[in-house]
Amino acid sequence: MIMSRDPRHDILFEPVQIGPKVARNRFYQVPHCNGMGYRYPRSLAAMRGVKAEGGWAVVCTEEVEIHPSTEVMPANEGRLWADEDISYHALTVEAIQAHGSLAGIELVHQGPTTKNRYSRIPPMGPSARAIAGTNSLQARTMDRADIKALRGWYRDAALRARQAGYDLIYVYAGHDLSILQHFLSRKWNDRTDEYGGSIENRVRLFREVLEETKEAVGHEMAVAVRFAVDELQGPEGITHDGDGRAVVELLSELPDLWDVNISDWPNDSQTARFAPDEGYQDDYIRFVKQVTGKPVVGVGRYTSPDGMAKRVRDGLLDFIGAARPSIADPFLPKKIEEGRLEDIRECIGCNICVSGDNENVPYRCTQNPTVGEEWRREWHPEKIAMKTTNEPVLVVGAGPAGLECAMQLSKRGYPVTLAEASSELGGRVTKEAKLPGLASYIRVRDYRVQYLQVQANVELYLESPLTAEDIAGMEVPHVYLATGANWRRDMVGSSLRHPLEGLSNHTVFSPDDIMAGVSVSGRVVVYDDDNYYLGGVIAEKLLDAGCPVTIVTSNPIISQWTELTMEQHRVQKRLIEKGATLTVSKRLVRLEEGCAVTACVFTGQEERIAADVLVPVTERLPEDSLFAGLQDADLKTLKCIGDAFAPASIAAAVYSGHLAARRHEVEGEDLQVFKTERVTV
Ligand code: ADP
Ligand code: SF4
Repeated sequence: MIMSRDPRHDILFEPVQIGPKVARNRFYQVPHCNGMGYRYPRSLAAMRGVKAEGGWAVVCTEEVEIHPSTEVMPANEGRLWADEDISYHALTVEAIQAHGSLAGIELVHQGPTTKNRYSRIPPMGPSARAIAGTNSLQARTMDRADIKALRGWYRDAALRARQAGYDLIYVYAGHDLSILQHFLSRKWNDRTDEYGGSIENRVRLFREVLEETKEAVGHEMAVAVRFAVDELQGPEGITHDGDGRAVVELLSELPDLWDVNISDWPNDSQTARFAPDEGYQDDYIRFVKQVTGKPVVGVGRYTSPDGMAKRVRDGLLDFIGAARPSIADPFLPKKIEEGRLEDIRECIGCNICVSGDNENVPYRCTQNPTVGEEWRREWHPEKIAMKTTNEPVLVVGAGPAGLECAMQLSKRGYPVTLAEASSELGGRVTKEAKLPGLASYIRVRDYRVQYLQVQANVELYLESPLTAEDIAGMEVPHVYLATGANWRRDMVGSSLRHPLEGLSNHTVFSPDDIMAGVSVSGRVVVYDDDNYYLGGVIAEKLLDAGCPVTIVTSNPIISQWTELTMEQHRVQKRLIEKGATLTVSKRLVRLEEGCAVTACVFTGQEERIAADVLVPVTERLPEDSLFAGLQDADLKTLKCIGDAFAPASIAAAVYSGHLAARRHEVEGEDLQVFKTERVTV
């Protein structure tokens, strides 16, 4: 069936001039980190190339360090320290331009927010400042010679970027990560010379670097500015009606494009739990197009084509900027262009992608299991090898692993039966999406179900709890068990390796019980030994239901792993505001009548907490009984996937289902060694 684009979206496909270059449409992948950086150049190039293929007219790098005095080891960003670094950038440029897109590069010097652990060069900034999270490291104040040298490094890096073939170059002052923003900010800059004091003085370095970049490469390359118009710190920081606006007014027509957002990164890339609506930055950046005639790009997890077109029509934006929506669906522009809106894999706003970068590994995505695998496993988000036989496949369980596995097997052309025990598809996603702040998680289910429901080679069965005998009797040669996992009730987890004493005398509800809607009353103790999001949202749900809740963790902060998704400070704030009692650095040691006994993880000192109900969020047991029951069945394939194989995140379950489908009827190990990028000497 040939689909055609909705005319209301035509405006998104108009070409736009950016300085000396023309973007073929209004879809713009803004610079974003990805954990591949300078260490995985082939992986990086393939990932960016797929986005260009998917229709993004401009595809940019992550931040690219201009000099060894701004290195963020062990993080893994781009580098353009010297001519030797040009060739790997050329790989990325070629991959992007091969699809008719413009390649953009974001140069950075991080000044006093870099630690220079590798180079051991003392960090420097507008003024001497302590550097958070270090062993007493402080940045030194830059003198005039330093400023002159810095301008030279920017110029040299711009010339290298041109040599690599980039079409567009950024002068970056955002996320509280660029020295050009630090000079603008009174927090960082208390200089009394011509670079401090008035806004005209504080913007001087930004202007100089912008002018010198234009002078060096502006005749061939578009010169863009990325600027944080607000830091959400009120008068303490840059505000969109104060210094933020003043900077746009002062530099108004100087750059070829304004890419504007809010700072810092946790504010720019807020999760759906805390910023549920797309366009959460709109009100901050609205003024920009009134102040400049140059094209404006903004972000805000835009995934709705109607919303995108409206923002262009209303004069808010010229380009629809995206990082996360382009990760979840690199083919988002193509799908809108071809009128295939139901095929869009919408970002759920979970920031698992960010966690990959923060853990210094190639990023991953809950919705798009192919991301980061474009080169090393040669996975394409929209293409998959066709079947090798016509033999039918049974997938048991319709959570994220089962849905993804069935979807990809169907795409390969296999006859697929998907059997689900309950009356709803989606498994854990359907349950978790009903918890406070997680509504967008349902997109993981809906994207896959929409596809599966209309495929001729797929049979879907609800309310079909299968036994081993049922399966053996079905005469299907290939079986994937995606039967999930169940939360433990006995408190066993990473801080307690044996069942807790005294449990049988207490009311214990597992997270599965809470999600199933069990009625809870009285004083609740949530023991969060999992430390990702679930303990926090379960506590929120119970607080919303009026229960007094104490959340106990052996970690020093609540939901500690959410630091990697940049949410932890918001999680803790919300729980405090909702009235939770937070008990940190304590582990549960036993239960006594009417109370839970905790011990300080440092001193062992005990404390009693009144508790009518206990909710352990500790670990899960894989539901793999069918695997044991089918050991003697005559099957060519029998595998557990997703949480039934190894309980983990939703992203891991989707990935596991995808891997199984790709590897179906392929010889060799499932976890086959992927291509590895090696340093050659
Ligand atoms: P995952 O994250 O690995 O996809 P989930 O827990 O989300 O796992 O989903 C597992 C699904 O499997 C649930 O919807 C559950 O109802 C279903 N299921 C479990 N056991 C059976 C069974 N014996 N037959 C059919 N479906 C099952
Ligand atoms: Fe969106 Fe989550 Fe994928 Fe990141 S990991 S792109 S937030 S769905």
